[in-house]
Amino acid sequence: MLPSIMSLDQPRWWAVGWNSERSQITFRVHRGFTRRGKTEIPPDAPGVLSLMRDCDLTSFSGTLFGESFGFDGGRLIRDQGDADPDYAHFLLPLPLLRRVSGACQYCSDDASMREGCISCGGTGEERSIDWREVYALGGTVSLFADMLAYPDAPAPPWAMQLIELVISGSREQSGISGTFGAFVASWLIGQPLHARLSFIEQAMHAARRCLLGEDVLIDAHPDWHFYASVNDDFQSGWLNVSIPGNACGINPKGTHFQPGFPYEFYDHNVDNAMQVLILLAGIGALCDRVDQDVGR
Ligand SMILES: [Zn+2]
Repeated sequence: MLPSIMSLDQPRWWAVGWNSERSQITFRVHRGFTRRGKTEIPPDAPGVLSLMRDCDLTSFSGTLFGESFGFDGGRLIRDQGDADPDYAHFLLPLPLLRRVSGACQYCSDDASMREGCISCGGTGEERSIDWREVYALGGTVSLFADMLAYPDAPAPPWAMQLIELVISGSREQSGISGTFGAFVASWLIGQPLHARLSFIEQAMHAARRCLLGEDVLIDAHPDWHFYASVNDDFQSGWLNVSIPGNACGINPKGTHFQPGFPYEFYDHNVDNAMQVLILLAGIGALCDRVDQDVGR
């Protein structure tokens, strides 16, 4: 049987985190990890080929412990400076994906329309998104999470697995769901009810600024737009998260989980891979904080 986080004492084979100083999503993968005896996704694997075809991508590097992993040059960079004997460290830099492409068509001819212009956020500039780059990033984390979901055997018990993730980040489909392990679920129960988990909100805001640039309307009141809180009334550690979008976020799946046991979460109205990455930054910050508080 494949190892699963739904068994409570699953040793850790990988972890996701958030580097707040560099605004990068981080991963650590146990150096003993293999999937069917391999540590590589071949470039002609069906999942690779379909993403390349659907998202107009040109190359893929699937060697897990190589210098980089992912599409079009590799978006996940191996942190060569790490000296961790147990886990290999990876960084996912978040490039600016929305760049200036001209003047705002709604307010550039009339400065009085500038303030409060919803189209440009008051900048007077039209911006467009580099969707190919979005798909390269989304496809990279999607395949990375997919590979890590099927280890051959449990890693030696250095620490407990905190989370399982299922990510899709293609042109057709974007989403992020998974399971919070027992350590995360227990940590969430310990948080004051309805209190904002500002470190998660700040990570998501920082990730959005990296990917989409400054946004006058959102940056003025980030706490209106980024939300993370344990807000069930049954002491169940029920985490709800939302980010800018059409009620975009993650929520617990079902209502009858046992407090302190692993529980599944699912996404709501995730429209694109940028929202996946923003939510992933928040999840990374959460996992880092749990590690810090549990002392691992
Ligand atoms: Zn405008």
